[in-house]
Amino acid sequence: MTLDTLEKTDSTLRKLDHWIAGESAGPAGGDYLETLTPLTGQPHLRVASGTADDVARAVDAAEQARDGWRHFVAADRGRLMLALAKALRDNKDRLAEMERADSGKPMAGALAEIEGSAQYFEFYGSLVYLPTGDVLDVAPDQHVFTKREPYGIIGVITPWNLPLNQAARAIAPALVAGNVVVAKPSEITSQTTIEMARLATEVGFPKGVINIVLGTGQAVGEAIVKHDAVRKVAFTGSVGVGRAIGRIAAERIIPLTLELGGKSANIVFEDADLDLAATEAVKGFTLNAGQVCSAGTRILVQRSVYDAFVEKMAQALETVKPGESLGPIITPPQFERVQSYFRVAEEDGARLVAGGGKADVPGCEDGFFVKPTLYADVNNDMRIAREEIFGPVGVAIPFDTEEDAVRMANDSDYGLIGTLWSRDISRALRVADRINAGQIFVNVWNTMSVQTPFGGYKNSGYGREKGIEAIHHYSHTKTVTVKY
Ligand code: NAD
Repeated sequence: MTLDTLEKTDSTLRKLDHWIAGESAGPAGGDYLETLTPLTGQPHLRVASGTADDVARAVDAAEQARDGWRHFVAADRGRLMLALAKALRDNKDRLAEMERADSGKPMAGALAEIEGSAQYFEFYGSLVYLPTGDVLDVAPDQHVFTKREPYGIIGVITPWNLPLNQAARAIAPALVAGNVVVAKPSEITSQTTIEMARLATEVGFPKGVINIVLGTGQAVGEAIVKHDAVRKVAFTGSVGVGRAIGRIAAERIIPLTLELGGKSANIVFEDADLDLAATEAVKGFTLNAGQVCSAGTRILVQRSVYDAFVEKMAQALETVKPGESLGPIITPPQFERVQSYFRVAEEDGARLVAGGGKADVPGCEDGFFVKPTLYADVNNDMRIAREEIFGPVGVAIPFDTEEDAVRMANDSDYGLIGTLWSRDISRALRVADRINAGQIFVNVWNTMSVQTPFGGYKNSGYGREKGIEAIHHYSHTKTVTVKY
């Protein structure tokens, strides 16, 4: 999706370069890509268009830093992580402005994202003392122990919807496990990842521990995944690219974490607090203009309360204002794509309850805004119920019994999130148990924290980010047996 939004340019816009070996580095080929700000559709930045040569430079820098970082005293490593968390917070307004210019998201969302990013460094920085192995009682004349060892160089490839947050989510546990990193943010939203790496150098991270190469997925992302010295890749993005990376990783026999898309079910039973569930359901598909992998876009509602619930959601949707609480869609192609689903919905016979078109935002006439949109009378086979739209679009599907709800929730290629609303705790636990998704929320929407492991079932990916669990995905176990 990204390539056709970007054109090589020689304009005089501000340039953004790679961060390699603790300093800013221009692209080996001298090329830059021009990005647009989705708020106004105007060009706003020239981003280094990296190549495999730039990746090789970054990997060299990472190799130079690798042994030093691995043997860094744990307490010092932790202190640096905490210092970076503080630096991100100290610079939160500036970072949020960058994120807003790149992605158009409202300031409140951008600030929350920077805070979340700081928390990753804080959380993982505080885990440096975590025991890393066991002593095993195998035989009386043997001392057998296990230890966790870093992979070495981790490749981190991230999307545009939560740019710094997703980068921090992978980089922080990778570093605390003793790895060094070569990361590539989305070419559309590169600023904050570069700034994070610059701040890391400023607070004392050794050169080469965090390297950022900018550019397209085809040129830079692929080169990272293919590089012999990169021993694991953490990828967040679309299913299609996840598959392509998976094929390369299979050839190279390297592990991957794949954090991919979703079409998550939000199940509302008739005994739920319907007012709360309606407000939260609307948040669930409009947050970040619906450009969230864990968006609750499939709202399954028990038939006895279906009409009343759709009406409540329609009312709640009136408070979601494009240009205020609702940001734009990221790029012209994605903007077109979201609108193409409005046509698909009409063709498939869904009933438009609200929205369903471009939103006019005064002062941002050329921005990529769509109205927050709700469809009713949808069935689970329609394309708008099966495909990830990645816009502020919710679809309401009626169901009759608990069995139907579970069957429909699981009748999806994805399995990232499941939410359910019911005052019957036995039913809530029963249904939570049966939904095939990595995270389940009961009577609350999406309250995730850095502590909660996150990841998908089915096409939503594999491996887990966040929490203590993620550290184990950035290290492997060595067993040592000593006979005495
Ligand atoms: P994308 O897959 O197009 O791009 C993601 C990243 O991969 C970008 O940095 C891109 O440049 C790079 N890339 C593209 N082609 C590549 C290739 N051939 N080899 C290596 N790298 C390549 O995704 P996007 O459009 O940026 O992001 C939206 C998608 O991300 C959605 O599907 C969304 O659900 C998913 N997402 C998932 C999570 C999660 O945690 N599960 C979080 C955020 C976004």
